[in-house]
Amino acid sequence: MTTTNGTIENGQLDKKPPVLPRPLSNLEVQHCKIFINNEWHQSVSGRTFPVYNPATGKEICEVEEGDKEDVDKAVKAARAAFQRGSPWRRLDATGRGRLLHKLSDLIERDRIILATLETMDTGKPFLHAFLVDLEGCIRTLRYFAGWADKIQGKTVPVDDSFLCYTVHEPIGTCGAITPWNFPLLMLIWKMAPALCCGNTLVIKPAEQTPLTSLYMGSLIKEAGFPPGVVNIVPGYGPTAGAAISHHPDIDKVAFTGSTEVGKLIKEAASKSNLKRCTLELGGKNPCIVFADADMDLAVECAHQGVFFNQGQCCTAASRVFVEESIYPEFVRRSVEYAKRRHVGDPFDSKTEQGPQIDQEQFNKVLEFIQSGKEEGAKLECGGSAIGDRGFFIKPTVFSEVSDDMRIAKEEIFGPVQAILKFRNVEEVITRANNTEYGLTAAVFTRSLDKAISVASALQSGTVWVNCYNALHAQTPFGGYKMSGNGRELGEYALTEYTEVKTVTIKLAQNNH
Ligand code: NAP
Ligand code: MG
Repeated sequence: MTTTNGTIENGQLDKKPPVLPRPLSNLEVQHCKIFINNEWHQSVSGRTFPVYNPATGKEICEVEEGDKEDVDKAVKAARAAFQRGSPWRRLDATGRGRLLHKLSDLIERDRIILATLETMDTGKPFLHAFLVDLEGCIRTLRYFAGWADKIQGKTVPVDDSFLCYTVHEPIGTCGAITPWNFPLLMLIWKMAPALCCGNTLVIKPAEQTPLTSLYMGSLIKEAGFPPGVVNIVPGYGPTAGAAISHHPDIDKVAFTGSTEVGKLIKEAASKSNLKRCTLELGGKNPCIVFADADMDLAVECAHQGVFFNQGQCCTAASRVFVEESIYPEFVRRSVEYAKRRHVGDPFDSKTEQGPQIDQEQFNKVLEFIQSGKEEGAKLECGGSAIGDRGFFIKPTVFSEVSDDMRIAKEEIFGPVQAILKFRNVEEVITRANNTEYGLTAAVFTRSLDKAISVASALQSGTVWVNCYNALHAQTPFGGYKMSGNGRELGEYALTEYTEVKTVTIKLAQNNH
């Protein structure tokens, strides 16, 4: 989703490289154990769990199933790596930056392997994995590598009998709990700032998609990070995930996923040791199209904005508000786009949309579609599954959607576009803000005044004007309201991974 050459801009692959990268055929999964202290471990319980390819429904491999005991082992390793005098703590800031650059070099070297693994595991089109997810990982690591030796406090003028300064120190051992929609990218969004600031990590990837995170274990070791700095414990949320959020020796947890689980994590944090939380949760993002907008651009962006990544984006343009006078034309063109969308084998370079992640999400999306039909929205196209293998759903467009329908209120996380009609600016601002979420919003207009005043009135962490999904490593990302707490990316992310220490020194009084 980063806006860069050869990646996604305005939600579309705009500058494909001259020679398309090709996935590896018959890639064997090498890393499916628990990664602690730069070594691979079996689970304490001896249990494993299966990981499936959502495009075929076939099992890819068995992965060691981490639980509380494995998380305990990982936390011990991470705490030891954070001890004063440890190799990690003795490493200066330049050295931390160098390690992050090295890690980024290794990701570039293994980019095709990682993109292939990500596609096998998530079902997302290989070109998207290669051009969007991997590009985002590399850029984020390089951005935070650059920050490592620029994290500094201030001298604070107080009365002249004191010297007062602040130091920005790492927090300690951080937990990272990641989702399945952008498995590696969401991990890097957490790992890069955490390591740049000098913390150590215990990571639990989503149960559906642990493979690229585990592969990172091998690269962490190869890059030369000391043992225990990064530990990766695959497993289930209510067991391994909960062990992290409840752990008294974890100082902070960073989470991306559902609002429901975000609440559980905050509750666990307050019940255990009041660990700090960064939560990046759901969205029901308004995309507002005024009659004076560039229609071609708005239709294209609204389409990519909701259908990108099989609709499985917290940023999804899941409520498209269109001004009354252009509504019929906008719907007509959106339907054309949806009908043309190429759904199928994620390893085929023509494919724009792969399967949903699993049976549960597939069922959930179809149930939302059913609710849209029952509540009186007009089904313009799609509305059902494709084939009987894998979890494919037709790109679906509903018009005549009203604010009280479930498809206009709840996060669907699937390829379903809901198009609503509005009459004036005040009305659309009120309706756009009438949600418990506040992650992203978009405005399409040629009027600068309108763009600025609507951007100012929208309650969301990001507002895009005449573009969509334009995310950068340099700009903060996070939500208002129930879309979360804190910010990832950009300079703002550094405050999420540092403590501020104030040092006040009494000076000897002298009279000259
Ligand atoms: P989820 O349960 O929130 O999963 C996100 C992560 O949290 C996974 O690693 C999960 O582990 C872990 N987890 C689950 N229960 C936990 C607990 N009690 N304590 C600690 N960690 C826990 O998301 P989901 O169930 O896979 O998807 C449900 C909905 O969440 C989607 O339909 C979508 O609306 C939303 N979602 C949002 C995002 C986003 O980018 N904001 C991403 C994914 C999903 P396991 O995978 O092992 O259960
Ligand atoms: Mg879950």
